[in-house]
Amino acid sequence: ATENKAVITLFGATGDLAKRKLYTALFKLYQKGYLQDHFALLGTSRHPYTDEEFQQVVRDSIKDVEETRKGEAADFSKHFFYKSHDVTKPEHYTILKKRIEELDKQFGTEGNRLFYMSMAPQFFGTIAMNLKKQDLLSDEGFNRLVIEKPFGRDFDSAKKLNDELSKTFDENQIFRIDHYLGKEMVQNIQALRFGNTIIESLWNNRYIDNIQVTLSEKLGVEERAGYYDNSGALRDMVQNHIMQIVAQLAMEQPVSFTDTDVRVEKIKALRSLRVYTPSEAAANFVRGQYDAGNGTEAYRDADGVAPDSGTETFVAAKLMFDNYRWSGVPFYVRTGKKLADKFTRIDVVFKKPLIDIFADPRHESDQTLNSNVLTIFVEPKSGFAMQLNAKRAGQGFTTQPVDLKYLQSDTDKKESPEPYERLFHDALEGNHTNFASWAEIAYAWKFVDVIRKLWDIEKPQFPNYVPGSMGPAASDELLARDGRQWVYRL
Ligand code: NAD
Repeated sequence: ATENKAVITLFGATGDLAKRKLYTALFKLYQKGYLQDHFALLGTSRHPYTDEEFQQVVRDSIKDVEETRKGEAADFSKHFFYKSHDVTKPEHYTILKKRIEELDKQFGTEGNRLFYMSMAPQFFGTIAMNLKKQDLLSDEGFNRLVIEKPFGRDFDSAKKLNDELSKTFDENQIFRIDHYLGKEMVQNIQALRFGNTIIESLWNNRYIDNIQVTLSEKLGVEERAGYYDNSGALRDMVQNHIMQIVAQLAMEQPVSFTDTDVRVEKIKALRSLRVYTPSEAAANFVRGQYDAGNGTEAYRDADGVAPDSGTETFVAAKLMFDNYRWSGVPFYVRTGKKLADKFTRIDVVFKKPLIDIFADPRHESDQTLNSNVLTIFVEPKSGFAMQLNAKRAGQGFTTQPVDLKYLQSDTDKKESPEPYERLFHDALEGNHTNFASWAEIAYAWKFVDVIRKLWDIEKPQFPNYVPGSMGPAASDELLARDGRQWVYRL
């Protein structure tokens, strides 16, 4: 592993995300040698901690990660420092600046600076502005910004945020986190498509009937209710994660597998996504909210949720790409809370043979062939399966669907870095492949804004699905209308 050198300044160092994910991710990079002696993390938030107290917070956060040598966690935590800081007070940035410069010297980080914003998004713009005004960027190494979601709540607010960030950072210095892009099997979409002639040569409207993407959660809103009620599934899952997955499924082959080339193709794909008129949106989007049932309370009864809340906890949609490759092929997507199970999968449904010779009455068979389906299991299991038709063993001639299957072994899974580890690593190396560019985010918001506006005007009939189901009946009807059905169904 090549060592990365940097001072990381983390805004929101005592937050939930930092403690649950970020310190663990950094510790794993340290264990693997991507971080060694030449790095330091300066944590900031409003809490008044000493360096020692903060190092204890870090050690507590990584206590479940096995050490590869004795004393490793303790050594790692000695790279962590702390300054309490109110992001709205310009004078506090001068203190941070001085501390960053000291740490740079002490750890020999060659002027490389990575700023990580893991706080409530309303502060992102203020922090960026102050980083520039109070002169926290270095003139020698790199200056990079890693920024958490959500990136705006509609196109206008996202644009405003991006304009604010752009005053301090160039697009090639900004790394917008979408942790779905850090998932092994989402990255595998590219390997599967562009590494296999038998897949990519069929990857178009001539052979594919439809594509289905499901991000299903078993949990409800739990303690995030306050935030969620303000956001809803469309903003929380569709605008970012689903759009990013769909872009990778729809994009053309990049010239090379570099961040610049991949981005160009993803942007092109999103540009050809059909932006609906309000009436098309009404016809092609379904929203849902879970009721009480199966031993759980209704969404509206959760703490922090208004008793008449119109926030959707489920979305299903039919997306269309208007380009040569995809014309006529629907991409059905859905996501929701309190569904039957927790999983993410992609089902690519191929067209049936134009003529089914086995259905010929002379073969005494009234069965029809199944569609070939390529399923990409993103999580919790990782792998893929290809459903083919084969002859059923025995006398006579009937066919049956059989599966060619590859699932990652437990060892593979153990060796796969968690999304945050992978993304932290990529940001340290300056690789943008698995981050969302501004243009992608802008197109995704423009697409989603039409639906949001419609839904904000029209009162929904909520609640409309039971916990433990796969969402409202309208989600099945969306496909049934086209003579299709969800591959994964109960
Ligand atoms: P959190 O509320 O747990 O932590 C916020 C942090 O910001 C705390 O350290 C707090 O002290 C600090 N802070 C708040 N106001 C401040 C101020 N005025 N000045 C200085 N510090 C201040 O939030 P979180 O759950 O860790 O989320 C952080 C970011 O990550 C958010 O953008 C969130 O949307 C995103 N995110 C979180 C999760 C998650 O699982 N928690 C998942 C995905 C994305």
